[in-house]
Amino acid sequence: MRVLLVEDEDRLAQLLKRGLTEEGLLADVAATGEDAQWMAKATPYDVVVLDIGLPGMDGFETCRRMRGDGVGAPVLMLTARDAVEDRIHGLDTGADDYLVKPFDFGELLARLRALARRRGDDRGPVLQVDGLTLDPATRRVQRDGADIPLSTKEFQMLEVFMRHPGEVLTRLDLLEGAWDAGYENRSNVVDVYVRYLREKVDRPFGLHTLETVRGAGYRLVPRNR
Ligand code: CA
Repeated sequence: MRVLLVEDEDRLAQLLKRGLTEEGLLADVAATGEDAQWMAKATPYDVVVLDIGLPGMDGFETCRRMRGDGVGAPVLMLTARDAVEDRIHGLDTGADDYLVKPFDFGELLARLRALARRRGDDRGPVLQVDGLTLDPATRRVQRDGADIPLSTKEFQMLEVFMRHPGEVLTRLDLLEGAWDAGYENRSNVVDVYVRYLREKVDRPFGLHTLETVRGAGYRLVPRNR
């Protein structure tokens, strides 16, 4: 699950990012509404956490513009005041939920999961490539009905492959899909995780579905080729 955090108070943003990362989520931080607008347009986030009080363009305007750009990710607004007008205004601009500052981190996490789940429901949750299935809502992966336990990173990378079956994905595609934007571009980490994934989703089943495409990257292929 990938989260865009829009918060201009750097300390709070970093604290939240660290907390989310520890929970196995990916989090990118934007300090202004302008940055948030282009980031949300460029990356399919599962949920956006949007502070109302931002320098320049405020959270309301940012939300309105993101919706104008066709960004469909659920938006959780953070408001410093528990003002009824703020809530109504926020929901009018296309926000899905709001949270009053200061809030409990567990509460934030629960709201994020609920929003992402709701979204997962309307995008058709379970991905399937032959006998391999991946459920983003429950984080369950199975091959022919047998559970395959994966680490968070392995799961995120497999999800990228399963959203693009048969396509050649470069190391950069996989890095962008499974690591957050602050991650250094070290492509060998991708190779390492592809090896881990093969050990779990292919080898025990005598399959070779995660192909290396020489000089290009990797590809998830149907098993009966
Ligand atoms: Ca603020």
